Amino acid sequence: MAHRIIPEQDNVFIELGRLIHETSYENKGERDVQIDNMRLDIVQNKDRKTIIGEIKKSSHSLKGAKDQLLYYLLRLKNMGVKAEGILLVPKEKERIPVILTLDEEKRIEKMCKDIKILVKGPIPSISRKQSSCKNCAFYTYCWA
Ligand code: SF4
Repeated sequence: MAHRIIPEQDNVFIELGRLIHETSYENKGERDVQIDNMRLDIVQNKDRKTIIGEIKKSSHSLKGAKDQLLYYLLRLKNMGVKAEGILLVPKEKERIPVILTLDEEKRIEKMCKDIKILVKGPIPSISRKQSSCKNCAFYTYCWA
């Protein structure tokens, strides 16, 4: 993704995610707010707080989704916008608050530095046993 390689848009899981995104929380806040290279699913003002909502199709891999949301919160903070986050999994009626603490801020900053090093490095080898590849929208690029 850092090299602007777009995942296959006809992947069934991408389509499902898009459908869930389009049909959930239709009346909640501003939808699909583009700021710089970030696309925020939902931006809401509630009790004088700015809440950034990120919609996910399942709670299967929320760790990465949480980091993504923390990254958005950090970028917004650096732009002078103090916000809180919420992960939304409509299918499972899950609402998980995400707060950018100082520890999380440091962790995300380090992660960003590590990613930059990774992106500049050589193409990593791929383990043929990776079960996560099966449903991945980059499958053709990695395995063709
Ligand atoms: S290695 Fe597997 S999981 Fe990673 S991008 Fe390629 S296909 Fe997807």
